[in-house]
Amino acid sequence: MRLAPFLVLALLTACSRKTEPVPRDKDTGSGSGSGSAAPIATKYDQISRTDFNRYAVRQNIGLYWIADTDKDSTLDPEELATLMFYPPPPPLAEAYPKIVAASKQPPSAEVRQKLAGEELDQGRPTLVHTDLTKLGADDKKFVDHMLKVGELIDQLYSIQLGTSELEAKLPADPESHSLFRRNWGPKCDAPATQTNKSCSAIPGAPKPILGIYPAEIQTDDKFCTMLEKHPQAKTLMAPFVAVRGPATKLEAVPFTQAFAPQMTAISKELTAAADAMKDPAEGPLVAYLRAAAKAFTTNDWVSADEPWSKMNSGNSKWYVRVGPDETYWEPCAQKAGAHLTFARIDQNAKEWQAKLAPVKQDMETSIAAKAGAPYTARTVQFNLPDFIEVVINAGDDRDPLGATIGQSLPNWGKVSDENRDRTMVMSNFYVDPDSLAARRSQAESMFDADSMKSYSGTPLPSNLATILHELTHNLGPYEGYKVGGKKPAEAFGGPIASMMEELKAQTGALFLIELLRGKKIVDDELAAQTYIDSIVWAFGHISQGMKDGDGNRKAYSNLAAIQVGFLIDKGVLVWNAQAKAANGKDTGAFTLDMKKMVAAVDEMMKVVGGIKARGDKAAAEALIAKYPDGKIVPHDVITERFLRFPKASFVYSLSR
Ligand SMILES: [Zn+2]
Repeated sequence: MRLAPFLVLALLTACSRKTEPVPRDKDTGSGSGSGSAAPIATKYDQISRTDFNRYAVRQNIGLYWIADTDKDSTLDPEELATLMFYPPPPPLAEAYPKIVAASKQPPSAEVRQKLAGEELDQGRPTLVHTDLTKLGADDKKFVDHMLKVGELIDQLYSIQLGTSELEAKLPADPESHSLFRRNWGPKCDAPATQTNKSCSAIPGAPKPILGIYPAEIQTDDKFCTMLEKHPQAKTLMAPFVAVRGPATKLEAVPFTQAFAPQMTAISKELTAAADAMKDPAEGPLVAYLRAAAKAFTTNDWVSADEPWSKMNSGNSKWYVRVGPDETYWEPCAQKAGAHLTFARIDQNAKEWQAKLAPVKQDMETSIAAKAGAPYTARTVQFNLPDFIEVVINAGDDRDPLGATIGQSLPNWGKVSDENRDRTMVMSNFYVDPDSLAARRSQAESMFDADSMKSYSGTPLPSNLATILHELTHNLGPYEGYKVGGKKPAEAFGGPIASMMEELKAQTGALFLIELLRGKKIVDDELAAQTYIDSIVWAFGHISQGMKDGDGNRKAYSNLAAIQVGFLIDKGVLVWNAQAKAANGKDTGAFTLDMKKMVAAVDEMMKVVGGIKARGDKAAAEALIAKYPDGKIVPHDVITERFLRFPKASFVYSLSR
């Protein structure tokens, strides 16, 4: 389970972290300094940093202007990063004039191409940079193998998505190529373009044929419902199998068989990574790499979870999770998508681990009390979150827009059932100055000035909410909890089950604040800051729309609308059509009545926990009808004000 934020900031380390320019990667020449033939007098001062980065994306050129550090409005070579997951870029001297020319061109007269540009512009490229220059030679070899694993995972995920076959149909223009690269296929994903049928990287907007289901059943829009009602639904809809046809005789085929060449290659590369890791202190990591390598040939992911659950921030410098995990990516929300999270452990987590460890059981007891019968409190033993700094996200992890900032895994199997999950908080997303400034402006467009006094604009409140969200996945009625013999996906159907689980987690993020305040772990100020921050988080998700381009409900957007609608009904959020927003420009703003917050959030936990405890599908559907689909939440105002700002679209670079 994961928390895919809109603009949630990350971690408590941020006060000490700035986005510093990084030296250019020496062996990936990006232009001016790398050889004797480099132009000497070229001055890159023709466009702003924002435009350089925007039109580089449009041109599908993997170069990024990190910051105008010396404030001379000129792109200096040391301010430039070379990006991964792009085609190798030309030297800067060659790329710069192309990018400038693109910025001066009028929009394409061709509708599809114009829309492709608009789709790309809704993401603000935002750099995730990792400096590995201080690593020893062996560690660098290990990293090289992990990067290769990332490439192979990307290929496997494209096959699961069914997009790899469409690549040959791409027209020549760079916008189409860039859109296809960023979005994992031809489909538009950004709020203003996702429902426009003409928006696609490929003329005619062909729909990919998913690699996990037979092509012939996918012509029917309702094929997920058909599969859920199939007599063999349990076998067919298991997370680690592909469904193969014909439609009259469907069968489940293990991923390792369905995607054998790709999975075998990943297995070999993981073994090579394990062999390359020579540091004797990294035993737990090596054990996991070998177990994961094995799972890529046996499909026994549950066994690989054992050594994985034994790694922690105390026994490894690295964080690796590789394999099929989350199900949000596919329309039936049942099959696990291939991904690699490759990160370094951020050592700053320990303070919060120490604070929260003693109150885990109290948290479970209080959530169980709210959820009510037939759920009863369990003895909980889950691990507190590890904080990680992502080096690369591959496959299902690398979203076109935004990024996962918190995750609890595994989703199935013994480790999960026995509550030995690991929870991660990704600490290096959304902490750059561009992201922080954009988010504050969004908040100031929705709240009046008085309410904004609680908004800190620092990463801590968001981090705390993320930690509590992730913790709550381990609390109350959980993924393995059965009511009437049915697990959540059977009781609610896949998409509503996913949404309700996320709603429970995010409701926990609000509800547990008061418990922590009572125990003096969180003070009054941080409590208030966290509440308003979580509402801004919710507005962000609402602005993304309730459904994707294919008409599937978005879990976070729906839960966000339920929470905001609930808080409006309880008088916590009061819309005043005459009030000036804190930005001084917009008329019509929310006032936040903090005094009513605790009681409202208590009630929310009771409603949401109760629905999960009873497996009450009708009540879940009623919530959806009332808030995501109803008129209580001012969807249009939120959307218009939030979408003035592009979403972060994360791009990656390394120096080593
Ligand atoms: Zn979650």
